[in-house]
Amino acid sequence: MNRIKILPDSLINKIAAGEVLERPASAVKELVENSIDANSKKINIFIKNGGKKEITVSDDGYGINKDDLEKAVSRHATSKINGLDFYKIKTMGFRGEALSSIVSVSDFTLKSKQQNQSVGYEISFSSGSLKHIKPVSQKNGTYVTVKNLFCSTPVRLKFLKTENYESQLIKRLIQKFAIINFDIEFNLFIDEKKILQIKVPKIDCQSREIPKERVREVLGKEFIENSIKINEKKDDLFVGGFLGIPTFNYSNSNNQFVYVNGRIINDKSLTTIFRVAYRDLMFHDKFPQLVLDIRCPLDWVDVNVHPMKNEVRFKDIVFLKSFLISSIRTTLEKITHKASTLNSRKIIEKIKPKNDFQQNLVLKEKSLNFDDELYEEEIKKNDTETHPLGFAKSQFHENFIISETEKGIIIVDQHAAHERIVYEKLKQDFYGNKIKTQILLIPVVIDVDNLVIESLSEKLAMLEKYGLKIEVFGSKSIIVREIPIIISNCNVKKLIEAIISEKVMEEDFNTIEAEINKICSTIACHGSIRSGRKLQVDEMNELLRKMENTKFSGQCNHGRPTYIELNLNEIEKLFGRK
Ligand code: ADP
Ligand code: MG
Repeated sequence: MNRIKILPDSLINKIAAGEVLERPASAVKELVENSIDANSKKINIFIKNGGKKEITVSDDGYGINKDDLEKAVSRHATSKINGLDFYKIKTMGFRGEALSSIVSVSDFTLKSKQQNQSVGYEISFSSGSLKHIKPVSQKNGTYVTVKNLFCSTPVRLKFLKTENYESQLIKRLIQKFAIINFDIEFNLFIDEKKILQIKVPKIDCQSREIPKERVREVLGKEFIENSIKINEKKDDLFVGGFLGIPTFNYSNSNNQFVYVNGRIINDKSLTTIFRVAYRDLMFHDKFPQLVLDIRCPLDWVDVNVHPMKNEVRFKDIVFLKSFLISSIRTTLEKITHKASTLNSRKIIEKIKPKNDFQQNLVLKEKSLNFDDELYEEEIKKNDTETHPLGFAKSQFHENFIISETEKGIIIVDQHAAHERIVYEKLKQDFYGNKIKTQILLIPVVIDVDNLVIESLSEKLAMLEKYGLKIEVFGSKSIIVREIPIIISNCNVKKLIEAIISEKVMEEDFNTIEAEINKICSTIACHGSIRSGRKLQVDEMNELLRKMENTKFSGQCNHGRPTYIELNLNEIEKLFGRK
């Protein structure tokens, strides 16, 4: 009774398989990692029925010696740790348990030949038991076939999703491998159809940076058009790759390709870091697309923390976090006005040429008097200078500006654009302690719940830093005496009510920065040119020039685009001219 027994190997392997192999894609991951570790130049992957029926991975790597075949499929047998420091592992594999795990839950055949052998050898198992080892014809490299995965573990089989879904996961995985292993050719066949063919780009791959050509080939032109290169370094930490611009976003994190020292990483805590870095540039429920190649000394990370090696543990996560956030912010700041090309594509798909199209364009010329400090600054108009946002032609529906650019036209949402400009200006002035205020001729009195007023009084001093001078006025109201000049046209009452009601006054901000952003954003939203205001052509041009010189002006503070672009080519196509 209750005596302790040592488990038989076959059971130990199955237990390991339960951790290492979640689904067909995890088997593919292990096999491809082995091919990468074997210095392969070309890796082919064949999948049948979502990988449930068959997975084959073939490579042209250095192969396995005949005498090592049995060892290769035994547990805790690896060629990758040669008395070297376990905390400086360069290879993808290191535990020596992948093949033994796969063997224990499938019908498995491995053929391999090393360069110095004249003939290859095949080792074959059926549901974990050895069938044979025999010579076969095989070119240099390794060819592994896994059939009927999880047949012996029906519960696991039951948890798999549709074949199509499992195939999609495998495709995504191979794309991930292909981006970071850009000196290897990958071919993926699903149910005998070639799904991916990713050749090595004809450029100098000696450089360790992921080439744009490879990313374009794997993720398509759209991502390249809508991303910016990142390349930052601090001490021994490096981050390279491509950041999707904020308006090019998705509703999940599937399009985030993150690597640490060449390993594919799926780590929730990193997703959170990206969210913080993109904060106030997109809606909170959106995710940016990105390719991030993080590199650091090998002993800065522990790679042995996750059975499928999807996560790593950093020695100094605080340092990494602040490095990543500041690197991403610095890079995104270079974008200024760029907005996603996806927006214009979506529009083109929607527009069907109509005869009354032109009649929708209404020229409005009535003047509007801006006394914003923004527009006091003289903007030099140099005709020889190129202005990417072009020159305003007209305004329509009292909110949209049409501008002619070198390549086509753009349509600007004046409210959204102005909001971003005011927001960035406020923040800049806030940090520079330079917010200019204007004393209200007639102070504005606002009634406030008497329960709130007590807690408000001490926080009003804080709002003064934003150029809002407010005092308690009696037991049930406050009085606003000064506001920032930049929003002198705003509805003061509505603004202050918004600031109070949006709980800006509560102490639940996680960082000072979040607080500043929130207040500036509320002020900007209320102080910006509303839709429904007529602008003169000069004013429209001023807005365009400001956009060109303002950080992140491609999207408003809520993440909506501030403008869309239609190039002449696309317009001509709409009219059937091309
Ligand atoms: P690990 O990769 O952690 O060493 P595996 O069980 O995945 O463990 O593989 C065991 C061993 O089999 C490897 O260490 C390697 O020597 C050999 N091996 C597996 N696949 C290949 C391959 N495609 N090419 C060359 N050697 C391989
Ligand atoms: Mg391995």
